[in-house]
Amino acid sequence: MAKIAINIATGSLQKEEMIVGIDLGTTNSLVAIIHPETKQPIALREHNSSSLVPSVIYFDEAGNVIVGEEAKKYLEISPERTIYSAKRLMGKTYQDIQQEGQLLAYQIIDDGTDQLVKVKMGDRFYSPVELSSFILAELKQRAEHILKTPVTKAVITVPAYFNDAQRQATRDAGKLAGLDVLRIINEPTAASLAYGLDRANQATTEPQLIAVYDLGGGTFDISILRLLDGVFEVLSTNGNTFLGGDDFDRAIVAHWAQAANISLQELSRNSLLAQGLRVKAEAAKIYLSGADVFEDKLNDLSLVLTKKELETLIEPLIAKTMVCCKQALKDAGLSASDIQTVVMVGGSTRTPFVKHRVSDFFGKLVHDAVNPDEVVALGAAIQADVLAGHNKDILLLDITPLSLGIETAGGLMDVLIPRNAKIPSKASRQYTTQVDGQGSMRISVFQGERDLVKDNRKLAEFNLINIPGMPAGLPKVEVGFLINADGILMVSAKELRSGIEQSIEVKPQLGLSDDQVEKMLLDSITHAKEDIALRALTEARTEGEQLLQSTERFLQKNASVLTKEEMLQTAAAMQALQMAITLDNKDLIHEKIEALNDVSRPYAERIMDEAIAGAMKGKKI
Ligand code: ADP
Ligand code: MG
Repeated sequence: MAKIAINIATGSLQKEEMIVGIDLGTTNSLVAIIHPETKQPIALREHNSSSLVPSVIYFDEAGNVIVGEEAKKYLEISPERTIYSAKRLMGKTYQDIQQEGQLLAYQIIDDGTDQLVKVKMGDRFYSPVELSSFILAELKQRAEHILKTPVTKAVITVPAYFNDAQRQATRDAGKLAGLDVLRIINEPTAASLAYGLDRANQATTEPQLIAVYDLGGGTFDISILRLLDGVFEVLSTNGNTFLGGDDFDRAIVAHWAQAANISLQELSRNSLLAQGLRVKAEAAKIYLSGADVFEDKLNDLSLVLTKKELETLIEPLIAKTMVCCKQALKDAGLSASDIQTVVMVGGSTRTPFVKHRVSDFFGKLVHDAVNPDEVVALGAAIQADVLAGHNKDILLLDITPLSLGIETAGGLMDVLIPRNAKIPSKASRQYTTQVDGQGSMRISVFQGERDLVKDNRKLAEFNLINIPGMPAGLPKVEVGFLINADGILMVSAKELRSGIEQSIEVKPQLGLSDDQVEKMLLDSITHAKEDIALRALTEARTEGEQLLQSTERFLQKNASVLTKEEMLQTAAAMQALQMAITLDNKDLIHEKIEALNDVSRPYAERIMDEAIAGAMKGKKI
């Protein structure tokens, strides 16, 4: 069985290379390392500048990509070319986003409601994975500039509530940025590591209950963790993805506007004034974290804010976070007094009033000694150091050396258990059929890091047969992976509507030397760009073909209800899509998908199609 230490040792080319910790945040991102001399975690920064890199991406007309502080100013000047909060889109379908009522200034593409979201920029389409990869590439480049050495390995943090697809998307983003993502860890776990809670716990056999309160720029998360024997378990999470320091700023702007008799309509018309006030509001808020009165001027407008006034303004916002805390405790089956440790995370917890309220709620002092906007990255760096095998005090658990997954439409690798997952481990995911009346499904199991299964190693294959005849997209086949403590993988497939099932046992480790594992890992990094491009193209083709099929089916059923004009337009759009699919240009395919959707949307809404509405979300096999 592979151990993490062996894994690192086999990466012999970069034996001494530093592994970095990355906090990929909604508002700000940063990199941290364990300092080789002091052995303490530190956030990387250039001389005299902040360690924080705003998670903002600007695309100029010439096709250049600018990330960070420099990109932030374009949020106002050129909002349609500037992307922020890309993290909110990770692993999301258009339908998810719609339900959340996302309001973003840039253009999000709706191409069939169960497809993953994309962002349109000029005539190019970007997935959230690509967008996040731009931020990660910038962080990598900065780290290399500061450390004067190549940086290719990282631990990246994600919110505890991120699902499988969102975690995989984050891994892919790392890979695309040229990073080998050794581990994805939860943000609250990272923050707890930065406070050394795991080390403190090792002396006892008692579990420790921890609440991590994370109030950032635009999001709030509360996580309840249980720590035992150095292992963190997430008991519950809650939060609000549209609540954070930005709302404090807005409340201050509204307060000043009211005091100066400026109406909200006037403010929305005068964006220069609104922007000026917003900048001053954030400055006031930050200033009042260490003072009692803020006084400044904007042109001839006098701006005053006391600490007391700020507290009154944000009280309703803090009250909302308390409701989330209550619910998280309830879901974990605990009460506030059961929590032994409260950890503060996120820039907005610097406001003393926030700390007081949280401390009152849990009835104890909060942990706030570590810089709250760096704490998550610092914890990721500690985890990275453990993975590098530097920290001999920490037990290394058995892990999977390579990712395990199955083949989906177009020969793509769909990972169920990522590499470096702890053993034992299990995962399952639902799939559906590609064609109408498909009676069997071939489940092909692969191991490796490449995006196309042909570049990975085939472990096993079996057919799930006797699937009752149904239209494509209706059967629900659940594929389950279970690796037991001995590293044996059990793969099962079950059609949930009919109950038919089948399973197979494989030994993933068999006949694979450390050298082969190493080669497979290196290959995946060298080929990341072309792999991901090919995956995007294959996905676009599959999506296009699927849309053509469902449109055709729809037309057969409803031809009589369509006008001649609609028929002609649809036929033309279908032909254009068909032609686009034959070319190697994913953007063109997306454009034609969008065009066909635009043509069919009016009449599809008129005649709700059962088959389309009832088809399940999910990848096709
Ligand atoms: P995220 O996790 O969403 O990327 P951060 O943890 O970096 O965000 O938090 C950013 C927020 O913290 C911003 O709203 C910023 O105004 C706020 N903030 C930063 N410093 C302070 C401070 N000293 N007092 C109050 N709020 C602050
Ligand atoms: Mg954060």
